[in-house]
Amino acid sequence: MEKQQLYKMKIPLIFRQGDPISPLLFVLVMEYMSRLLRKMQEDPKFKHHAKCKKLNLTHLTFPDDILLFSRADVGSVELLMATLQDFSSSTGLVVNPAKCFVYMGAVDGDTRDQIMQTTGFNVGQLPFRYLGVPLSSKKLSLNYYLPLIDKILSKIHHWSTKLLSFAGRVQLVNVVSFAIANYWLQCFPILKSVLKKINSICRTFVWTGGSAMSRKSPISWKEVCKPRAKAGMNIIDLEFWNKVTMMKLLWDLRKKIDNLWVLWLHTYYNKGQNLMSMEVRKDSTWIVKGVMKARLSIDDCCNSNKARPRALFFQWLACHKRLATKEKLAKFGIIRDTQCCFCSKIETLDHLFYSCSVMKLIWSDILNWINVDHVPLEWNQELSWLI
Ligand SMILES: [Zn+2]
Repeated sequence: MEKQQLYKMKIPLIFRQGDPISPLLFVLVMEYMSRLLRKMQEDPKFKHHAKCKKLNLTHLTFPDDILLFSRADVGSVELLMATLQDFSSSTGLVVNPAKCFVYMGAVDGDTRDQIMQTTGFNVGQLPFRYLGVPLSSKKLSLNYYLPLIDKILSKIHHWSTKLLSFAGRVQLVNVVSFAIANYWLQCFPILKSVLKKINSICRTFVWTGGSAMSRKSPISWKEVCKPRAKAGMNIIDLEFWNKVTMMKLLWDLRKKIDNLWVLWLHTYYNKGQNLMSMEVRKDSTWIVKGVMKARLSIDDCCNSNKARPRALFFQWLACHKRLATKEKLAKFGIIRDTQCCFCSKIETLDHLFYSCSVMKLIWSDILNWINVDHVPLEWNQELSWLI
């Protein structure tokens, strides 16, 4: 189809919000907008935002929100507005100034006024919510987590939850509350006090069926959060899960170079340095600091450890619970005898690390020998300490 024809084409008003074809139309229309913005960059009057120049970044688009970036000078903003105008006249999609905001930093009063006049948008304040989570370069205070807490409370307050049995409440906490918190946890480290608050809401709901704080907890929350195999209720401990999600972000940072945010961080923060050994810059944002803190992880202890590769592989298998213990081998029918060679108990991972009385003595001697003052705990405790 020729360009002119496309411009003149009248789209019949048969598409409504929620139509299955909407995502496709959105991608098509946004591709056109991306091309307009790419073309705009060729104009020498346009200046990129200081932290976008190396990646030629001018915009991020999602169905509900579009972010546009440029240097805070009148010329660049005028070009951006002219491009938006082009886009509007071609597609019929018009910008609503009442719903648009400009965020500026280190800009003098005159320039600020001129920019406001050019755009006709309001001045926005950080943090603002983007895709449901607050965005800020500064550490978020407790107040910004209130929507998350309120959302979990609203699920718990729902009339239908009053009819739930204990098992039903455990299921609701595991599925609904965890899913809500997990969305935030996947984005940035959450304050310990917030996680404690959510944990206490979930704990109260599980034991009492309501949200009024109560001390009625026959079994500690730590025990409830253990897996079923350990006589727990399989509820995921959010404090622990937040560590896991930060490790996931760290993993992405190391491996997923083709992701835009990863590429951006490598361009402006790491600048080619080794991610695992570099010092965290003092001016790094709180999110970067949180992700970098996750370097003390399984990955770290496996990859930066000076132990022999054979020992590291052994440790890696143990971390993933894939060590060929007698109990496992017997399960596969390879051997019949499951007895520990030091005592009469079954040889499992937990038994070897470090429940077996003989193994405990051996490990204590080794730690003494290398001058480490530590008494081996259970495997899971040692692992959570390590992470
Ligand atoms: Zn033993």
